[in-house]
Amino acid sequence: LIAMGQAEHSVVTTCAYCGVGCSFRAEMKGEEVVRMVPNKDGHANHGHSCVKGRFAIGYATHSDRITKPMIRARITDPWREVSWDEAIAYAASEFKRIQAKYGRDAIGGITSSRCTNEETYLVQKLVRAGFGNNNVDTCARVCHSPTGYGLKQTLGESAGTQNFDSVMQADVIMVIGANPTDGHPVFGSQMKRRLREGARLIVADPRRIDLVRTPHVKAEHHLKLRPGTNVALINALAHVIVTEGLVQEDFVRERCDMESFDKWRNFVADARHSPESTESITGVPAATMRAAARLYATGGNAAIYYGLGVTEHSQGSTMVMGIANLAMATGNVGREGVGVNPLRGQNNVQGSCDMGSFPHEFPGYRHVSDQSTRDLLQQAWGVNLLDEPGLRIPNMFEAALDGEFMGLYIEGEDIAQSDPNTQHVTAALTAMECIVVQDLFLNESAKFAHVFLPGSSFMEKDGTFTNAERRISRVRKVMKPKSGYADWEITQLLANAMGYPMNYAHPGEIMDEIARLTPTFQNVSYRRIDELGSIQWPCNDEHPLGTPTMHVDAFVRGKGRFMVTEYVPTQEKVNARFPLILTTGRILSQYNVGAQTRRTDNVHWHAEDRLEIHAADAEARGIVDGDWVGVASRAGETVLRSRITDRVQPGVVYTTFHFPESGANVITTDNSDWATNCPEYKVTAVEVTRVSQP
Ligand code: SF4
Repeated sequence: LIAMGQAEHSVVTTCAYCGVGCSFRAEMKGEEVVRMVPNKDGHANHGHSCVKGRFAIGYATHSDRITKPMIRARITDPWREVSWDEAIAYAASEFKRIQAKYGRDAIGGITSSRCTNEETYLVQKLVRAGFGNNNVDTCARVCHSPTGYGLKQTLGESAGTQNFDSVMQADVIMVIGANPTDGHPVFGSQMKRRLREGARLIVADPRRIDLVRTPHVKAEHHLKLRPGTNVALINALAHVIVTEGLVQEDFVRERCDMESFDKWRNFVADARHSPESTESITGVPAATMRAAARLYATGGNAAIYYGLGVTEHSQGSTMVMGIANLAMATGNVGREGVGVNPLRGQNNVQGSCDMGSFPHEFPGYRHVSDQSTRDLLQQAWGVNLLDEPGLRIPNMFEAALDGEFMGLYIEGEDIAQSDPNTQHVTAALTAMECIVVQDLFLNESAKFAHVFLPGSSFMEKDGTFTNAERRISRVRKVMKPKSGYADWEITQLLANAMGYPMNYAHPGEIMDEIARLTPTFQNVSYRRIDELGSIQWPCNDEHPLGTPTMHVDAFVRGKGRFMVTEYVPTQEKVNARFPLILTTGRILSQYNVGAQTRRTDNVHWHAEDRLEIHAADAEARGIVDGDWVGVASRAGETVLRSRITDRVQPGVVYTTFHFPESGANVITTDNSDWATNCPEYKVTAVEVTRVSQP
């Protein structure tokens, strides 16, 4: 996949996979990429990379790439290659027809964390200004939307508090529902370096991830909780901190809202939240919970890193707030080595949220009901903007099934594979009259599309990505777009065809507009990023060089606000028919739905998803290692091969979700976070049976 030869020049760009956002040098010979070399000056990776980023060129140049626009009147028709003019005109005329027939709100758009900031900004602008509604959403809906909600409620900003290098100042590291060595490998290595230097480790995860026990690193406490009991666990840790006098009273008095603190303290102090009362819920021994809480509160600088094992639950937002409560109560916010750090799964999930791709928020997390922001944007964009939130992705599906939502523009997201309860999703997609998919490959969603617009890989365009530490880095064009257009140009073509003019000559102009209209991006420009190498927002007159650590002297919202976090058991119950809990995660060599990594050399390391099952559960079902097994839930059924392992506890099974054949989302359910509708991917009641090879 990597052409060998002598490089003549190189271009510095940013990896398009995970939220670490490693900087790479694409070494070039003429217009050909010779090799991808991690950039030693990269602020997020300091010259390191993982097996995903190194081989990413494989998917960008893969023969499966679609390079010509295509249309079809019905999804049962064969695709017909057409010119760009015809494809764009057809998409626009269909969207206009649908709006004329069903109303202004009958169409919408979905953007993705695979898009650059500039592309995401344009998609939400197209929807708000061109479609005339707020029906825009992003794939963050299904991963970190609870982070945005929970951190805004408590700390005042929908983002992590630290830079990655801050971990080197941590004395205690608590990893909750994340698997950094697989999901965020370069940061995982940095964390391991700090642990080898002597930092102490607490892991809260139903599964024994590598960090729990790996050469020279051992977790002092592994809180091996039952899936779905996060909030009971965090309340138990808080109970110990409050009742054993471990609260940093000075910090709380000076920095936090005392009324909310008193309410929270009284709540968690109640005996029903004690480790002894909750151990039957979490499955974690009370003594382990007590010891972990004491270590977190008294071990020096304590930093929490968390992932989708926190957010993808029916109480995802509650748990994010519970984590923020714990950090505030112990004074672990606002300096190096501490903080609340969401490990964002995708390269630009932070950026896609920052750019206003949620139906309720404009760029910079300003609510659509905020009059002054609307005035600013209306003047800049020359349109009237709605003050009511639009439809979230699950609402779009419901409205489609009700015959009220009939047209969808999807850029870079494969909702048919990545969203839960596949049967429900495909029924909704089938009900729509025009779906426009803009992507590199004919993905699962394209099966339901009427227009396919061939998109551009990160190698073929300019722009920026924002990683998990709020770091904005440049994406630089290495090769010409294979389809003739970069994604931002395609969105612009569609906007013009819809009658809303967009005339940007370069993505740098889009960033200039973002900076003009978004206070946290006020001083961001391509020139400034080139000068500094990368910038962590907020970057404005107050923080002209960016902000590595947030909430230093005061919380963004002023006083930190404690939130009461009542534990509410999930609706997803085990019973005699579905006695096991399925939970999901990632593996090092593959990335999310695998559309990219399956088309690289990475398939040599991981070529299929397997179901991990404990030996006791396997034996009870007559399953031996490598057997094909049927996995049935209330939503559906799929078939996988088994792997018998003690990484999972009895009663819990686990799979990755990188291959469409594994059908992980055929079995996940419609349950979702109460505040954000983030799906409850991490808890599905299932039964597993031995089957013959499919
Ligand atoms: Fe870095 Fe993540 Fe890309 Fe690996 S996948 S090279 S850790 S950004």
